[in-house]
Amino acid sequence: MGKPTGFIEYLRELPLDRSALARINDYNEFHLHMEEKSLKQQAARCMDCGVPFCHNGSLISGMASGCPINNLIPEWNDLIYRGLWHEALNRLHKTNNFPEFTGRVCPAPCEGSCVLGINNPPVTIKNIECTIIDKGWDEGWVKPEPPSKRTGKKVAVIGSGPAGLSAAAQLNKAGHLVTVYERADRLGGLLMYGIPNMKLDKALVNRRIEQMTQEGVSFVTGTEVGKDLPAQSLLSDFDATVICTGATKPRDLPVEGRQLGGVHFAMEFLHHNTKALLDNKPGANFISAKDKDVIVIGGGDTGTDCVGTSMRHGCKSLIQVEILPKPPDQRASDNPWPEWPKVYKMDYGQEEAAAKFGADPRVYLTTVKKLVGDENGQVKAVHVVRIEWQKDSQGRFIPKEIEGSEKILPAQLVLLAMGFLGPEQPLLEQLGVERDARTNAKAEHEKYTTSVKGVFAAGDARRGQSLVVWAFNEGRGVAREVDTYLMGSTDLP
Ligand SMILES: Cc1cc2nc3c(=O)[nH]c(=O)nc-3n(C[C@H](O)[C@H](O)[C@H](O)COP(=O)(O)OP(=O)(O)OC[C@H]3O[C@@H](n4cnc5c(N)ncnc54)[C@H](O)[C@@H]3O)c2cc1C
Ligand code: SF4
Repeated sequence: MGKPTGFIEYLRELPLDRSALARINDYNEFHLHMEEKSLKQQAARCMDCGVPFCHNGSLISGMASGCPINNLIPEWNDLIYRGLWHEALNRLHKTNNFPEFTGRVCPAPCEGSCVLGINNPPVTIKNIECTIIDKGWDEGWVKPEPPSKRTGKKVAVIGSGPAGLSAAAQLNKAGHLVTVYERADRLGGLLMYGIPNMKLDKALVNRRIEQMTQEGVSFVTGTEVGKDLPAQSLLSDFDATVICTGATKPRDLPVEGRQLGGVHFAMEFLHHNTKALLDNKPGANFISAKDKDVIVIGGGDTGTDCVGTSMRHGCKSLIQVEILPKPPDQRASDNPWPEWPKVYKMDYGQEEAAAKFGADPRVYLTTVKKLVGDENGQVKAVHVVRIEWQKDSQGRFIPKEIEGSEKILPAQLVLLAMGFLGPEQPLLEQLGVERDARTNAKAEHEKYTTSVKGVFAAGDARRGQSLVVWAFNEGRGVAREVDTYLMGSTDLP
């Protein structure tokens, strides 16, 4: 423990973000770094708990509590306080292949369960993580480390998102020859084409891909397994196959007017926006929010990214419709520490909309009744209604419309961000992999073995749409299981 009185002496502090009104003029990252002296003080707030809840990734009430990859948080907090940055980086890499991604985009369940959070603001764990790895790259400490020996075994990984990348990195470390197949034109899964540039600069994703390539991992882009390449060919050409195809089937909105022009799934909007930025020109599928009244349906992370992106396009107005109630400002009594705190917060997109238009764009306890079009079949308005949640005869909460609360909102662009319904099915069908009740690839957590011998599944394709940090947990876990399957035992952490 760096400084026994640190948690009493220092208040929680985060680096400033670029101002909301300035940052909507570009797609650059908006988090800034804090100077080293202040960061040391933040690390000194860590109490080096006997039982560090921050480090113990578990699920409580279906939500992550503590770090799902068991980052050695108290250890690197102490090392940062003592100025031992390189040692801190080594500790960080022991549990996390790509801390610059979690350091930027993780909602930080570690902070939600930090013991200091019981009666004080928690330690700024995520910011410390991000600064350690960014400094590691700046100092040239992160270098390709190819394995010293090859096993001669070949592994195919389908999908290059965080689950596929972490599985590939670990399997390569174990000496196997890994080929990653990706259907998109660029690698990284939702790190590349989901999470927008302002949260995660794509140069950082490419830098890791370059490092992995130098370490011996092969990448094949523009190849959809099951379409461009028969899935069965992987079973004969490789000793093991890992499915990391994500949960990309979006939830639709089955209301009148859904077919109108200008109504899109969030991912159509986000994917083609990032592609346009990286290609330096908008493609045929680019969707613009410029000068439009935009309605984003869904109040989660994907919805926030649609808000932030629409702000950067220069939308005319923006409303985000959320069916759930506004969360409380403080933890509710049925949401105690160390559970994930379900409290009201402004994310970056809402901050930006509020700065430009004067208020948080979210309207709660509201649902969409129908979409109305103009004479050209383009959406022109969204009819919404307020709801209240009532219990039905079986005790389940169901939304009930409040009579007379209907409103008509002008809209020329409607973005559907209501979550995802599991992995696309054709590949799983071709491979003959059994599905669970939610149509995910059926495989036990920490086992990852599917119903087909030699075929494993991890990440969102196995657990449903989740978080980058869970994808890392599963990617590293499936690598251990595949290594054991191929070699009889494993030394992979
Ligand atoms: C818009 C958005 C924002 C998000 N923001 C955050 C955030 O801020 N923080 C956070 O922690 N989580 C966030 N998430 C969730 C997080 O991105 C996912 O949980 C995570 O990326 C899942 O990783 P994965 O590797 O399992 O799948 P994915 O990242 O979905 O990658 C799957 C890859 O497989 C490829 N693929 C699919 N089928 C085939 C095939 N047949 N052949 C070849 N390739 C194929 C896909 O093209 C894709 O590249 C967000 C999700 C979305 C949609
Ligand atoms: S729970 Fe918080 S205070 Fe305790 S070791 Fe973890 S980061 Fe430090």
